[in-house]
Amino acid sequence: MNKFDYIIVGAGFAGSVVARMMADNNKKVLIIDKRQHIAGNMYECFDENGVRIHLFGPHIFHTNSDKVFDFLKKYSDFYKYEHKVVGRIEGKIVPIPFNFKSLELLFDKEKAEEIKTKLKENFNQEKVSILDLINHDNVVIRDFGNYVYKNVFENYTAKQWEIDIKDIDKSVINRVPVVLGYDDRYFNDKIQYMPTEGYTKLFENLLDHNNITCKLNSNAKDIISFDNDKVFIDNVEYNGKIIFTGAIDELLNYKYGQLPYRSLNLVFENYKIDYFQDNSVVNYPNEEKYTRITEFKYLTNQILKNKTTILKEYPLKYDVNDQKCKDPFYPILDSKNYELYEKYKNEIGKYKNIYLCGRLAEYKYYNMDLVIERALQLSEILIEGEIK
Ligand SMILES: Cc1cc2nc3c(=O)[nH]c(=O)nc-3n(C[C@H](O)[C@H](O)[C@H](O)COP(=O)(O)OP(=O)(O)OC[C@H]3O[C@@H](n4cnc5c(N)ncnc54)[C@H](O)[C@@H]3O)c2cc1C
Repeated sequence: MNKFDYIIVGAGFAGSVVARMMADNNKKVLIIDKRQHIAGNMYECFDENGVRIHLFGPHIFHTNSDKVFDFLKKYSDFYKYEHKVVGRIEGKIVPIPFNFKSLELLFDKEKAEEIKTKLKENFNQEKVSILDLINHDNVVIRDFGNYVYKNVFENYTAKQWEIDIKDIDKSVINRVPVVLGYDDRYFNDKIQYMPTEGYTKLFENLLDHNNITCKLNSNAKDIISFDNDKVFIDNVEYNGKIIFTGAIDELLNYKYGQLPYRSLNLVFENYKIDYFQDNSVVNYPNEEKYTRITEFKYLTNQILKNKTTILKEYPLKYDVNDQKCKDPFYPILDSKNYELYEKYKNEIGKYKNIYLCGRLAEYKYYNMDLVIERALQLSEILIEGEIK
């Protein structure tokens, strides 16, 4: 294995971006993944219905970083796609994040006007956190905040995290704000696009380089071992650099215990109809056991008659031994888990040639653009180090 300058574990964005950057810098790279495909959680494939599906849940690309988008554009064409989500609240389909249109659809005209006026008088911004509404001095704003909290956030959060909303990290709650206006886009980043031929094709292009060897169905924990401060690959001391983008608790055999995650039971359904719903994503915060339904044709721009595929997401606790929820999706961000993560990180820190990158290795919720940014940064640091 010492013929490779870099061994990269994980062929998602974190690993594949570093692989490409180092290959372009004349380094020999081996990238491995335990799954039978590249592209990590961005993986897309055609189902038996001919619909291109996102196997690990819908992935929408959005960013404010020109650097990230310029990098990706080298490997794929993109089409403009502004994501819009609706939710079923009290039997009505309304925009999510909750905005003035949602308010007008759910309150009578007079009440809606009163709430909008109070919101405009008290906030001089486009978005506000639900926490700022429910803790506000003004009773109209507070009541409105409580209404949105009850109907949009509370049950959804309970389903998604199986804990009380009070115990959720603020950054998670703030991910879905209340919009003080009519902008019904789910994200308001300046760059919102989807890869024309899908993410898998983008990854194929990204990894298509003479200096990159890709090995699938290969689990790092079966080839990497440790002794004192040395790292061994297939029992031979490895002197190159390892970029690890998988779960570090798994790599270290869960010696301090398992890092907790939330997972999803992803249930795909095929229908012999043109469209199942009127929107790409419909959220179900309350009545149903699933949190949302995605209809892929809206995301992929495919025109198919009498065929469509939807996905229902049922949140579950991550359990590596249960097929329904064996994928660690969302880290549970609390102080106890951060502490546990730090133990693993410190342990890995003993090995000077292992670098951690990505959502699993860093135990962080990263959107794609942030992972790419992080992988680009790490690559630049490594290249700089090589030059010195
Ligand atoms: C349901 C869901 C929806 C999301 N939607 C969006 C969205 O719309 N927009 C957005 O920007 N972000 C979204 N994200 C976030 C996005 O998925 C992450 O930013 C992205 O997955 C991070 O890339 P990564 O390379 O760190 O991890 P991953 O894509 O998970 O790649 C890690 C890879 O490492 C491999 N691996 C792990 N351990 C080992 C091992 N021991 N040996 C070998 N291989 C290993 C895994 O098989 C995997 O392929 C979503 C996340 C989820 C869970």
